[in-house]
Amino acid sequence: MSRASVYLDYNATAPMRPEAREALLSALESPANPSSVHAAGRAARDLVERARAEVGALVGVPAGSVTFVSGGTEANALAIESAKIAGVQRIIISAIEHDAVTETAKASGLPLEVMPVDSLGIVDLDWLAQALEKPGKTLVCLMLANNETGVIQPVDKASALVRAAEGLLHVDAVQAAGKIAVDFSALGADTLALSAHKLGGPQGVGALVAGTRATVSRRQHGGGQERGRRAGTENVAGIASFGAAARVARDSLASMAEQAHWRDALAQRLKAQGAVVLGEGADRLPQTLCFAGEGFGSEVQVMNMDLAGVMVSAGSACSSGKVKASRVVEAMGRSDLAPFALRVSGGWASTEDDWNKCGDAWLAAWKRIGARRREVA
Ligand code: PLP
Repeated sequence: MSRASVYLDYNATAPMRPEAREALLSALESPANPSSVHAAGRAARDLVERARAEVGALVGVPAGSVTFVSGGTEANALAIESAKIAGVQRIIISAIEHDAVTETAKASGLPLEVMPVDSLGIVDLDWLAQALEKPGKTLVCLMLANNETGVIQPVDKASALVRAAEGLLHVDAVQAAGKIAVDFSALGADTLALSAHKLGGPQGVGALVAGTRATVSRRQHGGGQERGRRAGTENVAGIASFGAAARVARDSLASMAEQAHWRDALAQRLKAQGAVVLGEGADRLPQTLCFAGEGFGSEVQVMNMDLAGVMVSAGSACSSGKVKASRVVEAMGRSDLAPFALRVSGGWASTEDDWNKCGDAWLAAWKRIGARRREVA
């Protein structure tokens, strides 16, 4: 990425960390199948197993709890489909889950209920407690941090309710990992989804972490890789790179505090000119800012920012490239602001200058839009 442009779209994909790139290239230089018994095969196996330990360490679990998959989407799908095979009779998801969870839950064919969030974007635990009183083993899916607002969810409290009801809890930690400390046991999760490209690793690799109460079922048939849970020759280079990214992300978590500082300084500038910060007042990821300028459509904002050399996102990145009103902001009861929501997300390589330039670009565009609106009025 050229330094002339400003990239503040880490929640879509974070730039690859140098250590992850090095691990990727080095693994690609001596390809071998980890199932081969010769020396090269054993070296590839060693890369995979070392990465498994690094990814496990990122969330405080032993290596054996980690199953490598193709990304966050597959990790979520594997968790939900495994829970169905394990006998859950219904699913509860939060209103702000990523499509990877929402669509898989719908496709499961199981009765599905949606847990509401309040105006800050935090799930309603009283609603959950009541919903869990209904009969039937329940899978609850609650993300740790939202991809659009960065709002962190009370997963440990939800877990206490789910356990009391003898249900299962799946946590999508794709956005949280590498940005805040994540402790699988403290969260009380049964399964947890991770994705390498959100924390400075490559795209197309992720992991499902499973605790002792969960059974991970085989949904892709073939060889016995990943202890029979996920057939197919391992993406050795991707996995090695994921391991390196996980290690560096864990070692450098403290540096996220400065992102929060710069993010908050930007928020102050925007608010002073009439923008509304979504989820402000809730615990949030340190590097995510979601805000809306009324009357300034998300798509137009993204285009204006892009012309100014600043890359940000309107809500969640949509594979079709089409920008829709933010479903998350709507769930927060702010349908009035949903068409105007913009997400700015930094990370390991973002500088204070990046955040300042983002503010300059947005405020200049906001001023132009305001002048135009005044002309029309
Ligand atoms: N879950 C959340 C919260 C996400 O933000 C994303 C990606 O945007 C995913 C899951 C999907 O991850 P992946 O792109 O690795 O499939």
